[in-house]
Amino acid sequence: MLSTMQDVPLLISRILTHGSTIHGTSQVTTWTGEDEPHRRSFAEIGARAAQLAHALKDDLGVTGDERVATLAWNNAEHVEAYFAIPSMGAVLHTLNLRLPPEQLAWIVNHAADRVIIANGSLLPLLAPLLPHLKPVEHVVVTGPGDRSLLDGADVRVHEYEDLIAGKPTSYDWPELDERQAAAMCYTSGTTGDPKGVVYSHRSVYLHSMQVNMAQSMGLTDEDTSLVVVPQFHVNAWGLPHATFMTGVNMLMPDRFLQPAPLAAMIESERPTHAAAVPTIWQGLLAELTANPRDVSSLGQVTIGGSACPPSLMEAFDKLGMRVCHAWGMTETSPLGTIARPPAGVAAGTEEEFAYRLTQGRFPAGVEGRLTGPGGERLPWDGESAGELEVRGPWIAGAYYNGPDGESLRPADKFSEDGWLKTGDVGTISADGYLTLTDRAKDVIKSGGEWISSVELENALMSHPDVAEAAVVAVPDDKWGERPLATVVLKEGSTATFETLRAFLAGEGKIAKWQLPERWTIVEAVPKTSVGKFDKKVLRRQYAQGELD
Ligand code: ADP
Repeated sequence: MLSTMQDVPLLISRILTHGSTIHGTSQVTTWTGEDEPHRRSFAEIGARAAQLAHALKDDLGVTGDERVATLAWNNAEHVEAYFAIPSMGAVLHTLNLRLPPEQLAWIVNHAADRVIIANGSLLPLLAPLLPHLKPVEHVVVTGPGDRSLLDGADVRVHEYEDLIAGKPTSYDWPELDERQAAAMCYTSGTTGDPKGVVYSHRSVYLHSMQVNMAQSMGLTDEDTSLVVVPQFHVNAWGLPHATFMTGVNMLMPDRFLQPAPLAAMIESERPTHAAAVPTIWQGLLAELTANPRDVSSLGQVTIGGSACPPSLMEAFDKLGMRVCHAWGMTETSPLGTIARPPAGVAAGTEEEFAYRLTQGRFPAGVEGRLTGPGGERLPWDGESAGELEVRGPWIAGAYYNGPDGESLRPADKFSEDGWLKTGDVGTISADGYLTLTDRAKDVIKSGGEWISSVELENALMSHPDVAEAAVVAVPDDKWGERPLATVVLKEGSTATFETLRAFLAGEGKIAKWQLPERWTIVEAVPKTSVGKFDKKVLRRQYAQGELD
């Protein structure tokens, strides 16, 4: 028997309408680098999103599920695009502006983007690429930047503000199928070509509700969230959609992602929440140590994308910025687990700290299981380590394969019964807490035993003289693989390999056989397009003899 409930599709246009009316006075504040940031209310964003949708449809001829791409920092116009494009039925494609140009071109061509909405400051990146972007017919430019860079390009160039000016401020949003494509994001392609993940209206809606739950980020309209995680990195972890559901104000850094402006915007705009990958926070910490600022407003900091080093969590706790650790992937929208300690564990205890350092628990809506090397299911006993597999309504079940191709379901990414194979290795405790030891491809396989690169990195980064540390596997004649420790020392440090090694063996509590014998000091660890340690580059540099 079917239910007697109304069948109202879960659409992004409904999130927009809710946010721009019920929470119409909430604000998106964009940092400009000048005295005054730019402020726009949710009501204005709603009106301007309607105008943008009219312009895309009437002036640029966007129809059906055509892809409209953004090449943009986090700012108010990008939020407008986030809502206008899917609400009208088209598909928002956020482009990762830090990808190598040839990968970016591959992705635009693969997704068949017809329109690109670009920030003026990114035209030096876009202009030379345009001749290689076959499907692109229109470029819409927002914000400051040299437009003459587009002179002579074989596309129609529009000024965002001119395009939307005078258009109606409401739009009769279509009643779409909630399973229809709303947005797409490509994984950064660490192996092979990038893979497109296509989110549905339904998956975005359900994911946003989960982000808002008290046991997830739990923010309300009294909060302001500093959204450092880029809007091109898994939809800024769902924050723009989630905040429109609850009226959380957003503070957008635009292109000012360096530690000093981040510290300045925290002090002056007093956000209560922030979200970014660990390397951003390591940078902020160094900045705050050198130039102290009042960051006391920041009660909660969501850290994910890579494991949060214990030393970082401890240092942030001391500054009153409470870290909440979360795990996810492009394929998981991204919220997969979040580390809220269970009831009854006293705040400030070692036990609580240990819970907070895990990757956390699965929220309702995400199921997880561990699979051993032979495909066997492993128990949740906190000891049996295997590959994490997940399923749920906001977890990818396939990759995009162009408009005419069947979706891709590679056997190394999806199990026969449809679960996503994450490529992450770890344990799950009896009370449901996931602890990741490593990515399968980063684990160091030494003489038949496994060494966790993350464990070595965390131990190294707890040394007071170490600013950053990344550990990768390198070939070894005797053991197959051994760890190479790449270390960035803090200014004025006198630490040597010997003292660091002794620290690992002592306070770092690393077993003797796991201690690296290969070390290198670098000025900075290379980073991926989303700010994680780029271990692929480190392995290549080592192979080419550049790290000796
Ligand atoms: P990329 O593969 O380019 O890094 P994603 O952002 O999708 O793209 O990365 C997802 C991966 O990031 C996960 O599979 C996992 O390896 C890692 N990751 C994300 N969050 C955490 C975390 N809290 N702890 C450890 N690893 C994490």
